Amino acid sequence: MKVVVVGAGYAGTFAANRVAKKVRGAEVTVVNARPEFVERIRLHQRIAGTAAAATPLTSMLRAGVASRIGTVEKIGDGTVLLDDGESLGFDHLFLAVGSTVRPLAGTVPVGTWEGAERARTALAALPAGSTVTVVGGGPTGIETAAEVADARPGVRVRLIGSSVAACLSGGARQRALAALSRLGVEVVDDGVEEAADGVLRLRSGREVPSALTLWAIVEGVPELAARSGLDVDAEGRVVVDAYLRSVTDQRIFAVGDCAGVAGSRFGCQTAAPQARAAADALARLAEGREPEPYALRYVARCVSLGRKDAVAQFTHPDDSLKESYLKGGTAVAFKRIVYTGTKYGSRKAIGA
Ligand SMILES: Cc1cc2nc3c(=O)[nH]c(=O)nc-3n(C[C@H](O)[C@H](O)[C@H](O)COP(=O)(O)OP(=O)(O)OC[C@H]3O[C@@H](n4cnc5c(N)ncnc54)[C@H](O)[C@@H]3O)c2cc1C
Repeated sequence: MKVVVVGAGYAGTFAANRVAKKVRGAEVTVVNARPEFVERIRLHQRIAGTAAAATPLTSMLRAGVASRIGTVEKIGDGTVLLDDGESLGFDHLFLAVGSTVRPLAGTVPVGTWEGAERARTALAALPAGSTVTVVGGGPTGIETAAEVADARPGVRVRLIGSSVAACLSGGARQRALAALSRLGVEVVDDGVEEAADGVLRLRSGREVPSALTLWAIVEGVPELAARSGLDVDAEGRVVVDAYLRSVTDQRIFAVGDCAGVAGSRFGCQTAAPQARAAADALARLAEGREPEPYALRYVARCVSLGRKDAVAQFTHPDDSLKESYLKGGTAVAFKRIVYTGTKYGSRKAIGA
């Protein structure tokens, strides 16, 4: 059985390794745009120079899993077409292309490897006293602002977003805002409408200077699924059945940020469980057994606040917030478990 996995982030790498282990006779090929496995949840650290956030992809794949560096342009009837003109045939496909960014002109996106590299270079070249603006009041914006402020104390950091840290419950939110303040981050409740010539025009009409503006909002998914004729939802995510198979073509599983599961959020905490569920569904189907449906089961949202602080906000399985959270050194340790566990979980497909 030929299995092609498109995208080697958390979901694709996990799925490839688990299929290779669990589906007898499967020939697995991973197609990824880059030769590295990018730890996307550490890109804010890459920018600030506190983590590499990239590992050779081949070191993340089980023996026997083939890798192919390239971009898939289109999915056809049992084939994928690559940007170099070659095509690969498949009996089953795992679509794991993640999510995208739509940065405002004049800003640098945090959520892609290429953007993070540009941001890292620009930040390193900034003299002390310069102002860095981070746009986005969600976890990515908070983590980026805190990381930059912690690593570059001579640089002024401003975080602009509407209802910053609203993704956390009352106590955890206060804790995060206090940590940002302690790190010297100016939090501005506003939006950025235009960025040009080192000046930002805000929704309120205010204008503020900014030597480097980082766009820390992740939204949308790659157009590959829609372009290939798969049914997609309003956000462009693949519409899937209970087993994470495309409702258009049951040979295709969608996992991670690009899968249209109601109530799911973009997150590595979505990616690995979905990859596990879909790979197991294929293993059971290959043995002529009934697959088990996928169910959302969230545990926490963990937000780093520089290198010495964090909050780990506990959630109900449907991702709604509990009041309870961890803070300080305990939350930092929790976060470390999240990023190491997610990376090595993808590599070994733990529990396989
Ligand atoms: C700074 C930052 C911090 C974050 N922190 C957290 C956190 O603490 N917790 C959490 O749960 N989530 C966090 N997230 C979100 C998390 O990173 C994503 O939800 C997660 O990476 C999704 O995993 P994925 O495997 O679906 O996609 P990705 O990790 O984005 O991987 C997709 C892969 O597909 C490849 N690809 C795309 N298109 C093609 C194509 N056409 N052909 C070939 N390859 C292709 C890409 O190059 C990439 O390697 C954070 C995000 C950012 C930016």
